Amino acid sequence: SAPLIEQDPEIYECIQLEMARQYRGLEMIASENLTSRAVMECLGSALTNKYAEGEVGSRYYGGTEYVDVVEKLAKERALAAFGLNPEEWGVNVQPYSGSPANMAVYVGLLRPHDRIMGLHLPCGGHLTHGFYTPSKKISATSIFFESMPYHTDAEGTIDYAEMEKTAAVYRPSMIVIGASAYPKDFDYERVRKLCDDVNCYMFCDMAHAAGLIAGGVLKSPFETCDIVTTTTHKSLRGPRSGMIYYRKIARDGKPTDFESRINQAVFPGLQGGPHMHQIAAIATQMKEVATPEWKQYAAQVQSNCKALAAALIEKGHVLVGNGTENHVILWNLRQFELSGNKVEKLLDKISISTNKNTIPGDKNALTPSGVRLGTPSLTTRGLKEEDMRTVANFLDRAVKIGVEIQKTTGKLVKDFIAALPANEELKALRVEVE
Ligand code: PLP
Repeated sequence: SAPLIEQDPEIYECIQLEMARQYRGLEMIASENLTSRAVMECLGSALTNKYAEGEVGSRYYGGTEYVDVVEKLAKERALAAFGLNPEEWGVNVQPYSGSPANMAVYVGLLRPHDRIMGLHLPCGGHLTHGFYTPSKKISATSIFFESMPYHTDAEGTIDYAEMEKTAAVYRPSMIVIGASAYPKDFDYERVRKLCDDVNCYMFCDMAHAAGLIAGGVLKSPFETCDIVTTTTHKSLRGPRSGMIYYRKIARDGKPTDFESRINQAVFPGLQGGPHMHQIAAIATQMKEVATPEWKQYAAQVQSNCKALAAALIEKGHVLVGNGTENHVILWNLRQFELSGNKVEKLLDKISISTNKNTIPGDKNALTPSGVRLGTPSLTTRGLKEEDMRTVANFLDRAVKIGVEIQKTTGKLVKDFIAALPANEELKALRVEVE
């Protein structure tokens, strides 16, 4: 059949433009990365045509001899990437993405309306960790299960003492550890002890930090947790997808029934046919994650993030937690009286992609006073610590120009955004990476 450029020139053009956008500027959204050619080849392959409901070796469709090999390799490599013993841990590689993976954990291990506790979304947690507002249950997790958040303190560190107090009263069936916007590592041991005290499951959603955990630069949740999920497209740099790791042998040495409960929850509980092209891409990526080069990448992501944080602090910027331990920086913009919304727009104009984010003390999640920055993509492109100082200069100058524009336009977001393209100094800052 005809190539895309002939079959659908409009979509072809959008793809070309998006590719140029990704490579022209600086991609600093902490949850994004740039996948390899090999991963892209898997995603655009004949595997996208194949139905394979079921498990390796027991499918509801014929013609699965090759996709069985693919899924078996994906599972073996996904375990190897985190140094897990296949006797002790199993993995399901079929979740379509991170959110369905988390839902499958709740469906598999809990009963409807069982209680969970997760980090509050404005404190850096993810929607799927049980988010609701006083007027509305937002996430399906809070609709079909009961949830009670724990929070971060004024410095942006998880308030473990509050978590303990709440859990003692709320008696959750599961505590979720993990975050989407949290520049620190977690105290897994302390949460484990709490889960033992209240007799509940300990579930880690390591989606954000998984690449750094695999690279050995952050603590591993596998020693303490009963169940671990991840996306595969953030710091792991693979395809958009999700995985669920479950203990086959509990920490007390007894066998669990997690394997059948998780597999059942994924299919037929929540999903139909697995996306075999994604699963092939997971296999390919996990092969890369198991190499010594990956350890270097993970260490560089962290080191770049620390260098960027130090350079920003040197210029007088305020960061939540006064720095970073991982790949994320939460940039506090309150001193400039510029909202995260405005700074996100401003940085877009100079081809730096970031996202607005709540920081401790924010009252309104729609106009947060922070911006989240991340280094996984820049590191994939080969940037090093000294480049982070240049990036910090761009960020610093852009915000200071933003303060000037704010003075001349007043406080309206609309006027502020309209004034951006007209600002000559801002135009001159535009980042173009070869
Ligand atoms: N878990 C965490 C911690 C995340 O940050 C995200 C995505 O941002 C997800 C889960 C959900 O992943 P997905 O967007 O693939 O559904």
